[in-house]
Amino acid sequence: MSEYVKDLMAEVKAKHPAQPEFHQAVQEVAESLDLVFERHPEYRSAKILERIIEPERAIIFRVPWVDDQGEIHVNIGYRIEMNSAIGPYKGGLRFHPSVNLGILKFLAFEQVFKNSLTSLPMGGGKGGSDFDPKGKSDLKIMRFCQAFMSELFRHIGPDTDVPAGDIGVGGREIGYLFGQYKKLRNEFTGVLTGKGLNWGGSLIRPEATGYGAVYFAAEMLATKNQTLDGKICLVSGSGNVAQYTVEKILDLGGKPVTLSDSNGYIYDEEGINREKLNFVMELKNVRRGRIKEYVDKYKNAVYTAFDPYLDHNPLWDHKAHCAFPSATQNEINWIDAQNLIKNGVYVVSEGANMPTTIEGVNIFLENKILYGPGKAANAGGVSVSGLEMSQNSMRLPWTREEVDNRLMLIMKNIHRTCVQMAERFGTPGNYVNGANIGGFLKVADAMIDQGVV
Ligand code: NDP
Repeated sequence: MSEYVKDLMAEVKAKHPAQPEFHQAVQEVAESLDLVFERHPEYRSAKILERIIEPERAIIFRVPWVDDQGEIHVNIGYRIEMNSAIGPYKGGLRFHPSVNLGILKFLAFEQVFKNSLTSLPMGGGKGGSDFDPKGKSDLKIMRFCQAFMSELFRHIGPDTDVPAGDIGVGGREIGYLFGQYKKLRNEFTGVLTGKGLNWGGSLIRPEATGYGAVYFAAEMLATKNQTLDGKICLVSGSGNVAQYTVEKILDLGGKPVTLSDSNGYIYDEEGINREKLNFVMELKNVRRGRIKEYVDKYKNAVYTAFDPYLDHNPLWDHKAHCAFPSATQNEINWIDAQNLIKNGVYVVSEGANMPTTIEGVNIFLENKILYGPGKAANAGGVSVSGLEMSQNSMRLPWTREEVDNRLMLIMKNIHRTCVQMAERFGTPGNYVNGANIGGFLKVADAMIDQGVV
């Protein structure tokens, strides 16, 4: 780490204490950018990184709402408008009890680079609430979404800031949020993405993040003249990203063997086939049940509850070729990274945002495995969100094939950018440097063009 990055990190930690995930995200990017600053001191003197680190705007608001029993609840709402150098703020909303300012700043920061990599005109943002949707009735969810949007609507718009889904925010929540926005503004615009198909949504949007992460893995494998056919794959999570990751792994001939939720994980040595995936989709998306129920139906599979006192995640301790972390941040620590490598995993494609700790990432890089960091590997979701915005502006929907083809091309493009940037800056095969540098340059040049604002 250079003196510049050391000083920068000390300042970030002093200015923004108690935001460990944000510090982690900034450090990873800053270390990659050291390579750029050596050759291009103009970015340092223009204080580009110092400017990117500070959100253009961070909105925090009260979300009071009344549940179906008449009880009043108060949650915290956030929207981090991180960077608009290359387009309107764009990034998801997360509803989860762990949500706080630091977590949303890390996500918004990552989003800036990710969106730039897609080559679509989108700035970076992120938002959400500490509201926990788990186990709540549709009516409670609707009331909360309406209360949340009653403030958020002032700050967003189709040319200003276009939120989407993330953990805890899927099609149902986007529907309620959109309905309230439309009522308050009296306009029907593409202000949110992930909308329903018959009211402005895009085909392939629900599938896009998972499909994209698998396309990215396939691209990495292609550099070794290999395919996913016959590969055993560990997948974490069982929500939107995990489900469509499993679907695309099956399409490409791979064998997914794990899924999880926050309570535990299932291991199915025979493989999660299409019938079993349909069961999981119904379980999670309709009945909103727990992954544990998988083993009641498929007796050969094994369920293991997560032990909060264990120093590693046992899901990552099975023989496999590929891993697709698709649940949440820091779900792979250095012990997990070592276990993965020990068990034969040589492809990691991150569907989740920052699922690997810095120590874990270093183990992947030292072992020179094919490691696709989230900001590149999971960019498929926001890419199709960008395509949804295009379709909304044109008021013309595209076919499934057209969107899927564009998604595949974008993922190939992102992969090419990562490879080329890593080579150009002397670290061939390092997708972390490739993604960070590739994402940074476009935003940095736009910021220089636009002056100090
Ligand atoms: P969902 O809410 O649909 O699913 C999240 C899954 O992860 C659930 O199975 C959930 O379990 C599990 N999970 C959440 N928090 C934790 C936790 N603290 N510990 C263990 N498991 C947890 O979210 P998505 O599938 O949309 O998002 C998954 C990841 O992908 C996130 O990191 C998100 O930021 C990232 N991502 C999502 C995109 C999208 O388009 N949706 C785009 C790019 C990245 P439980 O039900 O028990 O909470």
